[in-house]
Amino acid sequence: HIAFDAARFRADFPILSESLDQGMRLSYLDNAATTQKPLAVIKASDDYYRHANANVHRAIHALSQRATRQYEGARDRLVRFINAASRAEVVYTRGTTDGINLVAQCYARPRLKAGDEILLTELEHHSNIVPWQMVAEETGARIVVVPVEDDGSVSLEAFKSKLSERTAIAAFAHVSNALGTVLPVSEMVEAAHAVGAVTLIDGAQAVAHMPVDVQAIGADFYAFSGHKLFGPTGIGVLYGRESLLDAMPPYQGGGDMIETVSFEGTTWNELPYKFEAGTPNIAGAAAFGAAIEYLEDIDLDAVAAYEHGLLEQATAGMEAIDGLRIIGTAPGKAATISFVMEGVHAHDIGTLLDESGVAIRTGHHCAMPLMTRFGVPATARASFAAYNDDDDVNALIKGLESVQRIFG
Ligand code: PMP
Repeated sequence: HIAFDAARFRADFPILSESLDQGMRLSYLDNAATTQKPLAVIKASDDYYRHANANVHRAIHALSQRATRQYEGARDRLVRFINAASRAEVVYTRGTTDGINLVAQCYARPRLKAGDEILLTELEHHSNIVPWQMVAEETGARIVVVPVEDDGSVSLEAFKSKLSERTAIAAFAHVSNALGTVLPVSEMVEAAHAVGAVTLIDGAQAVAHMPVDVQAIGADFYAFSGHKLFGPTGIGVLYGRESLLDAMPPYQGGGDMIETVSFEGTTWNELPYKFEAGTPNIAGAAAFGAAIEYLEDIDLDAVAAYEHGLLEQATAGMEAIDGLRIIGTAPGKAATISFVMEGVHAHDIGTLLDESGVAIRTGHHCAMPLMTRFGVPATARASFAAYNDDDDVNALIKGLESVQRIFG
């Protein structure tokens, strides 16, 4: 096991040494919302516009070739990063939301009929609920929900008990953004396949925190966002099994997604371009590629172990605070802690922590059904990344102790 050098990792992220009012140190614990960017990513974006800016795939001139090389080179890195079988299986999207909508519209909508079931879990992010509701409405398919256990876990047995030959699609998170629960995705995929269902995994919260191998998981579709993986906003990936993508109609029509166009009829470009209509986010792809290149030198198993240490330390500190209750204690969870404090609005916790430089998120975390499940309107959430350290944990605990003193 290679030791993970968190201090060195942290030093690569310029914004983390940004001082706040009165020289206060920033403790950035809102990583589930978005991650910060290493200098390599910031530089790649700058370099792209300084040295390579042009449109991709279309021109033979030098800059267009550079832009195309960066755009497609990033795809090659992404193929390796998630162990896709080929370039055809890695489609650029705007992010996780866009990827899930693509599958809902292009895979599910043409196939689903009344009586078919779409299986979700109770802990899904709204972006893995609403696109399915839209498709269900149009096709007469039905949404079926796997309940979440009291500790925030999703039991394989509960999942299996909701599967049947009516299940057309099972869509579920790899890691919960609200609670940090890690779902048994390989086993869930296997069970779904056993009844002939196709699976989509929302990997938004997994990719930055553990190695992800889409072939080992067996997923049919796997969606994630660049910005939660130390890359830029506005770009993400939809991994899809080639045979499925091949059989799907395009998402949007326009330039680059066609082979030939005439008023009599148009033919589609090969994968993955069939799903990439219009001028894409080239700078975003170049910078996303730099994020992946940066991560190629990092052992994500060691990152997971390091983050687990932060989770244990923070959990112990929080459990010692009177009136604080952690929601989501599933074994093997990721380093995301949702909590409530007796007599204190989540919003006030966030405001007070911000005054001591600790950035957390408060609210429903785009998981309103999950909040309802636990009988709370909102939680406060501290979510860690590999650049967080003991000082961040201590700042969080100190801040929470003072919240408790003021409101408790
Ligand atoms: N799913 C999960 C689990 C998420 O955490 C997020 C982002 N909060 C999304 C989906 C949506 O990602 P994006 O907003 O980047 O499309």
